[in-house]
Amino acid sequence: MKILVLNAGSSSHKSCLFDLTEGHSEAPEPLWRASLDWTHQEGSVELSASGSGESVQQVLPITDKAAGLEAMVKTLVEGPTQVLSSLGEIEAVGHRVVHGGRDYVDSVRVTEEVKAAIQQLIPLAPAHNPANLQGIEAMERILGDVPQVAMFDTAFHARMPKAAALYPGPYSWVEQGIRRYGFHGISHQYVAQRAADLMGRDLADLKLLTCHLGNGCSLAAVKGGISVDTTMGFTPLEGLMMGSRSGSVDPGILIYLMRQEGYSADQLDTLLNKESGLKGISGLSNDMRGIAEAMEQGNARAKLAVDMFIHRLHREMGAMIASLGGLDAVVFTAGIGENSPLLWQRASAPFEFLGLRLKKDLARAKDDQDIAAADSGVSVLVIHTQEEWAIAQACLGHRYSF
Ligand code: ADP
Repeated sequence: MKILVLNAGSSSHKSCLFDLTEGHSEAPEPLWRASLDWTHQEGSVELSASGSGESVQQVLPITDKAAGLEAMVKTLVEGPTQVLSSLGEIEAVGHRVVHGGRDYVDSVRVTEEVKAAIQQLIPLAPAHNPANLQGIEAMERILGDVPQVAMFDTAFHARMPKAAALYPGPYSWVEQGIRRYGFHGISHQYVAQRAADLMGRDLADLKLLTCHLGNGCSLAAVKGGISVDTTMGFTPLEGLMMGSRSGSVDPGILIYLMRQEGYSADQLDTLLNKESGLKGISGLSNDMRGIAEAMEQGNARAKLAVDMFIHRLHREMGAMIASLGGLDAVVFTAGIGENSPLLWQRASAPFEFLGLRLKKDLARAKDDQDIAAADSGVSVLVIHTQEEWAIAQACLGHRYSF
C-alpha cells in the first residue's frame, strides 16, 4: 500500500512515501523523501527531493504554501526522483497534527468534523495547527478524495492521570481545557514500543523514561505503555531548555516584564519561543552541535548554555523517574539524543546511584543501539525516532475504513 506522509511545520514541510504491507517489524526506507524549507530566502522556497537513487534541490520562486506542496508532490511523478507513474497510486495520506485537544486519544480518519476540530484548536497551537490543516486541504486539492489520516502529537499523553495533567490554578482552568497536553507523542510512543522490542520485553511490563531531545525537547514517563507524565504542557514551551525556547521559567518573570517593561503578549511569545534556550544563553544559535564545538574552543557562554541544558535535563529526568516509581530503561532520541555521546554521558551521570552505567566506548551509529554497560541495572537505548513511519503505520491500521 503506497502511503504518503506529510509533516507540516511552521517553516518547513517534510514528506515521505512508503510502500507498506503488514508485518514490518522495523521501519523500512521510504521510496521517496522530500522537504520544503520556507526560511531559505525571502520570496522563495527550497525544495529537496530524493527517490530512485537520485536527488534534486532547487529554489523555487513560490510563496504560497499550497503551490509549494504541489511542486513537492510533483517530484513523485516527474523528473529524476520519479517513483510513481501517477499520483493515483497513492492510497492514503497520513498527517502529523500537533494539537488534538482532549478529544483525540488516537489517530483518526480525516473528516469535515476532524478538520473543524483542528481549526478550533488553532488558538492552542497557533504555529502548527494552521500548517497541518493547510497540508490536509492541499492534499484534497492535489489528490482528490484519497483517504487521509491525522495522527496527533498530543494523543499519546491523553491518558495521563489528572494529578499529572492539571495545573494548580483556579478550578475554572479545568473546565476551560487549560491543562497539560504534552507533545512529541508520536515520537515518545514509537521509541517506547521500539525499546520494548529491542529489550525483548512486553511494553505493558516496563517503566521507560523517553527523552526526545531535538530543537524541541521533552521527556515522557511511559509506564505500561501509557504516558503517565511529560515535561511539555499546555503548550510546547514548558519543561526542558530547548534550542530557542526557554522551557519552564517562573511565571512571575513574565508578570514582572509586563509591569516593569511594558512587554506585550506577542513580545513575550517571541522572547520565550525564539530568543531563549540554547540560543538565548549562548548568543550563538539554537544548534547544539555548533554550541558544543564553541564550548570545546573555550567559549564561556556556550559552556554555560550546555551546563544549563544538562542541569535542567537532570531535574526533569529525576521528576519523570519519580512519576514512574522505578526505571527499566532510558531512551534517547531526536537530533541531540541520537547523535551526542557527550549528552548520553552527562545526562546519565547522576543516575549511577540507580545502577545505571554506560559502556566505555560510545559512538553514534546508524542503527539503534544499547549503550548501557553489561553490569548496568538500567538499559540505556539510543533509538532513531521514526515519526513518519509511525504515521504510515497508523494509516495502514485504518485501511479497512477506506
Ligand atoms: P527538530 O526538532 O527540528 O526535528 P532535530 O531532531 O533534527 O530537530 O534536532 C536538531 C538538534 O540536533 C540541533 O540542536 C542539532 O545541533 C542537534 N544535533 C544533530 N546532530 C548532532 C550531533 N552530532 N551532536 C550534537 N547535536 C546534534
